[in-house]
Amino acid sequence: MKILLQIIQDLLDKSTKQRIGLREAYALVPASRCRRKALCCTLLPEMSLVEALAAIQCLSEMDPTTRLRLTRGLVRYFFLNSVRITSCPFLADRNCLIYHDRFFGCRAYGLWSKHYYDKLAACSQQMKRYNQEQWQNLGISLPQEVVDFQVPYCPHVKPDGDASVDDETLPNAADKIEILSKQLAPWHESFRHSYFSDLSFLLASLAFGLTEAVQMKFAFVKDYVTTGNQAGLSEVIGNLPDVFAALT
Ligand code: SF4
Repeated sequence: MKILLQIIQDLLDKSTKQRIGLREAYALVPASRCRRKALCCTLLPEMSLVEALAAIQCLSEMDPTTRLRLTRGLVRYFFLNSVRITSCPFLADRNCLIYHDRFFGCRAYGLWSKHYYDKLAACSQQMKRYNQEQWQNLGISLPQEVVDFQVPYCPHVKPDGDASVDDETLPNAADKIEILSKQLAPWHESFRHSYFSDLSFLLASLAFGLTEAVQMKFAFVKDYVTTGNQAGLSEVIGNLPDVFAALT
């Protein structure tokens, strides 16, 4: 099921309770301190629909210049993330532009035990290899270093003060977020299954249409791996309108 801009507006209008609940669930994850080098912000994390809506709400409240820059960054990220490791589009000068609304994946990073993190990384690697096979079936070899890339486990993140965290605290918060997001059925499932929990894919689909965004990605990835040419992509990105300007 396709998510259109009007559906996003309807979801924003009716999800106030869920977005308040999201903040409460985030509060279960202890604040943490780290060296703030933002090295972990290499990828845009997967997220649930309720988290995507909170980010879209942030975007809709930004000044138009920043919003358009971020929108274009997110769409560019979607088109090239299979072939290039860049940073999360929300990262600017080592600062997160949506820090107070950053996603569960960002908050939990570094708080997992090494053992749990390795399990998550193994699942992610499996998905990436499956994805690589799909591209291979289309005749495109993704760069192996991109397929193999994993944000490394960080031993430097520590909970603030006396707060403690274990491998039950974080799944507990994640479960609460999942329950809230499921209340937005059927769009919660649609975001997961049709858009792979990827805000950048949703945004590209809102801008161009779902099928068209996939076709464009194929063409841009093919250009990138065969010629390295990004001129067509740059032109499309440069002409991208402010998709979220109309949201209230
Ligand atoms: S949303 Fe913010 S904290 Fe999360 S990966 Fe992106 S820049 Fe980093």
